Amino acid sequence: MPLAYGLLAAYAAAGLETITEITMQRRALLKSVAAAAVSTLPLKQVWAADLPAINLDGADISLDKADIRDFADSLSGILMQPDSTGYDIARQVWNRFWDRRPALIARCTSVDDAVAAVNFARSNNLLTAVRCGGHSMSGKSVCDGGLVIDLSYMNRVDINVADKTAYVEGGALLGDLDRKALPLGLATTAGVVSHTGVGGLTLGGGMGRLQRRFGLSIDNVLGVEIVTADGKVLKANAKENPDLYWGVRGGGGNFGIVTKFKFQLHAMNPMVINFGMRYPMSVAKDALKLYFDFCDDAHEDLFILGGVSMREDGTGGVSIGGNYFGDPSNVDRVLKPLRDFGNAISDRVIPIEYLKIQKVADDGVNAPGKRRYAKGGFLREVNDDLITTVIERIEPMASRSFSVGLLPMDGAPARVGAEDTVWAHRDASFNIDSTSTWDAANTDVDEENISWNRAYWNDVEPFTRGFYVNQLIDEDQGQVNSNYGSNHARLVQVKNKYDPTNFFRLNANVRPNA
Ligand SMILES: Cc1cc2nc3c(=O)[nH]c(=O)nc-3n(C[C@H](O)[C@H](O)[C@H](O)COP(=O)(O)OP(=O)(O)OC[C@H]3O[C@@H](n4cnc5c(N)ncnc54)[C@H](O)[C@@H]3O)c2cc1C
Repeated sequence: MPLAYGLLAAYAAAGLETITEITMQRRALLKSVAAAAVSTLPLKQVWAADLPAINLDGADISLDKADIRDFADSLSGILMQPDSTGYDIARQVWNRFWDRRPALIARCTSVDDAVAAVNFARSNNLLTAVRCGGHSMSGKSVCDGGLVIDLSYMNRVDINVADKTAYVEGGALLGDLDRKALPLGLATTAGVVSHTGVGGLTLGGGMGRLQRRFGLSIDNVLGVEIVTADGKVLKANAKENPDLYWGVRGGGGNFGIVTKFKFQLHAMNPMVINFGMRYPMSVAKDALKLYFDFCDDAHEDLFILGGVSMREDGTGGVSIGGNYFGDPSNVDRVLKPLRDFGNAISDRVIPIEYLKIQKVADDGVNAPGKRRYAKGGFLREVNDDLITTVIERIEPMASRSFSVGLLPMDGAPARVGAEDTVWAHRDASFNIDSTSTWDAANTDVDEENISWNRAYWNDVEPFTRGFYVNQLIDEDQGQVNSNYGSNHARLVQVKNKYDPTNFFRLNANVRPNA
């Protein structure tokens, strides 16, 4: 997951004065893509023939054209098939490594649409993917030959200022939430790239700039509305269906389609301090040691992210960046250890609107449209061997950019019990990830880039235990099960109750055993 790299790039490379320009370019691009998609949507799709498809077990099936027509007619949103205008845009996901062709894409605009989609898929035993922001690294939100239940038109956000809560539809992006909440002086923990989906990010855990203060995104979920595999619409919160409420907080998309989240918000100062220092590769080991020492006694008013990155052009370095949410007059004292180290090739500290910071990493390496491969894991302790392992293999490679990100997991997330939510790794000290990124057209370097990253990770992995479910890439079922730790048995019980046929299986899957 490029949580780290985008930030490293944003903090260390891009001048902050370019943020506004980048944001304007991005908006213009998104507008033109959206306009093109809407203007080309078919007014009336012709369902002329039965459709070949894939069932839940991977076998070939045929979908009856009359059933498809009934399904399409029942939707307030849009149903697309491979010859529909806009289909090739609708099936694209953020990681262009995945080039999958679903039999159908249901662009839902209501809870009733989501229910109809689940009922249609279930009655046809059809393989089904659920899509919000489309940022799954492993491409789980699109499938070959199945149905994609696309929630991206369900992106409404309502804020209740009086009780500091947000009601967010299951297809909203992080930017949709920020745009509504931040002007009201409110925020909650969400990720660092605004085009990531609230749905996938939250259900898997949700790490971000506010986590050391307010916990993970799941620690701020007060309840959900969810369509389960039998097509029922349930509420899950501390009082209603508490087992399901527990399961959706870290269990990913295993239990149904969340059509609405209720989040706890917190008072948030609109202006924050942004800082970013970059150090050359020649002092990389000492700079990483500095980073770990700095994190060791960092106040929770700091968001900090460190790591190493190497671009295709051979420029590399260690970055330490983040935000300071405390009294701005303290910032020099707070950042003094980073300054005293010397050696910085860049050093930027500026006050900036938090809303802007939440978008600073949206472009460049994080923009949709590249091919990626990433591995991730949780560290419990940090030592010189780890630092040496992280640094030593990194070298310039013209076929890809590469980054390692290190995010501290202390503070509020560590104060929640390992069994209070599905997130079993409350004792982790850092999340570490290694990400390779290359051009979308460069399919001939896929094999080379993936095997290089895997070999790198083989060296780092022994320092880790467990991984973030939203960083799942190619782990086997045994690794997925053990990653849920002592929560796995309870998850299986919840799965048995709400999804006994494993209808929702394109995720960090909990297999039912009923
Ligand atoms: C550029 C980038 C930046 C990232 N930054 C962060 C970060 O700062 N912090 C962090 O924690 N993670 C981050 N991630 C990882 C991110 O959490 C996962 O990729 C997540 O799955 C993305 O959610 P999505 O809705 O965009 O993805 P999608 O691909 O749409 O969904 C992923 C999966 O989530 C499930 N799902 C999504 N929505 C719903 C729903 N409403 N109901 C039921 N199931 C649903 C489905 O199983 C789906 O397959 C980042 C990823 C990228 C690509």
